[in-house]
This record gives sequence, C-alpha cells and structure tokens, in this order.
Amino acid sequence: MLFHSTRGKDNNKTFEEILMQGLAKDGGLFMPDYWPEVDLDNLKNLDNFIDVAKKIVPLFTDSSFTNIEVEHLLDRTWHNFDKKDFIDIFEINESVSILELFHGPTAAFKDFGLQLAAAFFNKTLQKQKKTAIVFGATSGDTGSAAIDACKEFDLIKTFILIPEGNMSEIQRKQMTTVHKDNVFPILASGTFDDCQDIVKRGFNERTFLKDDQYLLAVNSINWVRIIGQICYYFYVSLKINNLSSPLNFSVPTGNFGNVFACYAASKMGMPLSKIIVAVNSNDILDRFFRNNDYSKEKVNETISPSMDISVASNFERLLYDFYFEGDTKACSQLYSNFPNSKIEIDSNIWKKSSQLFISYSSDDKATYECMKYYFNNFNYVMDPHTAVAADAVYKLNDKLDGKTIILSTADPAKFPLALKNAGLPPSLPNKLSRILDKKEVAHRLSSKDDSIFEFIKNNN
Ligand SMILES: *Cc1c(COP(=O)(O)O)cnc(C)c1O
Repeated sequence: MLFHSTRGKDNNKTFEEILMQGLAKDGGLFMPDYWPEVDLDNLKNLDNFIDVAKKIVPLFTDSSFTNIEVEHLLDRTWHNFDKKDFIDIFEINESVSILELFHGPTAAFKDFGLQLAAAFFNKTLQKQKKTAIVFGATSGDTGSAAIDACKEFDLIKTFILIPEGNMSEIQRKQMTTVHKDNVFPILASGTFDDCQDIVKRGFNERTFLKDDQYLLAVNSINWVRIIGQICYYFYVSLKINNLSSPLNFSVPTGNFGNVFACYAASKMGMPLSKIIVAVNSNDILDRFFRNNDYSKEKVNETISPSMDISVASNFERLLYDFYFEGDTKACSQLYSNFPNSKIEIDSNIWKKSSQLFISYSSDDKATYECMKYYFNNFNYVMDPHTAVAADAVYKLNDKLDGKTIILSTADPAKFPLALKNAGLPPSLPNKLSRILDKKEVAHRLSSKDDSIFEFIKNNN
C-alpha cells in the first residue's frame, strides 16, 4: 500500500514517509492509493480492541513494516487506559448509545490516534538511528495527548505552544505538570492562530533542527491518527451488533478527522447508515452540508474549545474521495483560491451528500440544555463536546433510522466550569483532579518574534 497527495504532486510514498512527513509537499493531504477491504468474517470472532486493530493497521503499513513488527508494536501501543478494553458503551435506550472514547491517560479521544503515532514515530527513529522534534500548537486536547504519548520516548523532544485563551485549567495543567526533560510546554503570547503561524514558519525555516533530525507535526492531518481512529469504529460496530447491520454515528467535530475516520471505516467494509456531522457555532461544515457553502469565518470561542476552528483541515480528504472520486486536478483547483474565496462545488455533485451525511450546529445555549437534559433524564453527565453530538441526535431524530452511536470525545471532569454553568454536579474526582494540585512549569515566550525558535534550539 502506497500513498499519494489529494493534489496530485506528491505520490508513491511509503507509510514511513508519510508518517514522518505529515503534510504533502504540494499542500495536499495524503491518501492511501486504494481502500483496503477488511474481511468482516475475520473480525466477528474477536473480542478485544487490540486484536481488531491487528486486522486493520497492517493494511496501511505493509510498505514499511512487516506484519509481525506491527503486531508486536500494537501489543504495547495503547497504555494507561482506565478500561481494560479502552472504550466503554453507555446505553441510553434501544436506539441510542454513547461510545466513551475518553478513558485514555489524557481523558480525550485523541489518545487513540496519538499513541499510535508516537509508537510508529519511535519505531522509525530507532530503525533509522535519528531523533525528532515534535512541534505543535494546541487549542485544547491535542497538546496534552501528544505530550503524554511521546514523553517516554527519549528520541523525541516535544515543544507545544499553548495560546492565551479559552482552554480549561485542567487542559492547560495536563501539559504544564508533566515535568519531564524531553517535554517543553510553552505559554505563548497571542491567539491559537498566532501560534499556528509560528508553527508553520518553524516547519518552513527549520533553523533549530540538528542534522539528521526530523521535525514532526502532530495535527490531525497525519494519516496515522486516522488509522488509530478507524480501529474503534470497527470495534464498536462489532460490540454493538457483531457488524451485522448499519449504524448511525454522531460525531462532534472540528477538523473533521474523527468524521473522516468513520467514512474510511465504511469504505473498508464497516456497515454504516448515516454520519451526523455535529459542530458548535463554528459552523463551516454545517454550512457546507446544508447550503454547499464552505467559507472561512472568524473563530468563535465556545464551551467546546477543542472544536473551535475556522476551517476543517481533513475535509479536503472527503472532497477529494467522496465528491471528486480521486480527481486530483479538481481538488487542487478547489483549494487554489481557498480561503480567500469560498468553496462551492457543482450542485449535482453536492447532492450526493445526503446519501451519507447530515449536519447540525448547536450553540452554547443548546449545548448546556442538552447536558442538562441527559443528566435529568438519564442521570448521565456528559462533557460539552459530547453534548454537541447528543444535541444533533435529539434535533435530527426524525431523519434517523436504526441505532445511533453518539461519540463521547472527552471526560466531563475536564470541563468543571461548563458542568457548573449547566447546573450539573461536579464530576467525580479522578486522575484529573490530582493534576490541579501539581506545580506548573512552563516557559513564557512571545509568538511575535524568533524567541520560540531560539528556545527550541537552546534546548535541542
Ligand atoms: C479534537 C477534539 C474534537 C474534534 O475532533 P476532530 O477530529 O478535529 O473533528 C472533538 N472533541 C474533543 C474533546 C476533541 O479533543
């Protein structure tokens, strides 16, 4: 299995190459050359997550690693989860269940993708006798998941920019209380967008790197993260109905990575009815699925900060694969003027959307109300990201047939202020509350000059 760019100018890449490169050289995103098929009969007698992952991950990695190598790696990839089986399923009623994906060490679903990424980064670095710098900015959960996933690997140093703004105290402290020599949380002046600009510049200029050192991105466009997420879609389908009939999935989304993983699983053979694309008031995706209008607007700060985006980077993969069926020219054409002008596709092609997608946008008020509704009626406490997905299911109920799975992407204990404002009791103390008492260590640097690059160089 090789990979190519959605924009057609960076092709025939091995898994290892796209793993370490992240974004394609032509600005596009990497895609597998074909959709590998999963033999469902082979999954049906499996009963744990790792065994399912062993049937999926190797389909994408055979250009660089043997089956045995990958199976060995998967035996130790996902660690420090509170549940033996990594996930949990909470049944609300016959037609709705909640898939809890937040039982990993950083209490958000991003542990699934980033622990897999870190394991393959480390394996590749060992093989090539190289080291790496992980450099990224975070608006919520990516930074802590990346830090946690990489901190035990001595060949990797992780530098994460934490912008001023909207993340919760627990989210910040998950990064600033790690106290490891190869982890550098940086409190950067400016907004998330300022921080992303610095990261982009860092990747262009690379002034702080040593020879023979990789600069690795951990944002959600890295294909390896999608692979990690495909695994849980197959696994939950197996647990819910033994892959026997199609399910609906309601996915709270920002960058469209989690939605795209669901789409990918269906292309690989998982039975799927509808994907509910659930967004907060940053509604670029909802505007596309409702009105064929994909246009960048200013970011709104919401109570679901990990979905506060102005553009959904993984959406390019869907345009390329689902609407344009692999036409790289059409895809690069669409993006040639974006975001200066909006993306609007041929209306006959756009009509395909309703075969698979329904979208909904919930503002903060609706999100709070949904949190309250689930607590009052089902005694279930959910975090605000999950509530965005739950609200969509509630509002779109008439349009859904069969069973619907709401993806719960974060532990409610991560967002105590939102729980309080919704009138819910504080979530039970757990591993997160211990973080609050730990000493914070972070470096305060400007995002307006070169001081961040100098800092990385001095600590490299
Ligand atoms: C990152 C994140 C999301 C959004 O995921 P995408 O793959 O970017 O759509 C949703 N909820 C939580 C809690 C997150 O951390």
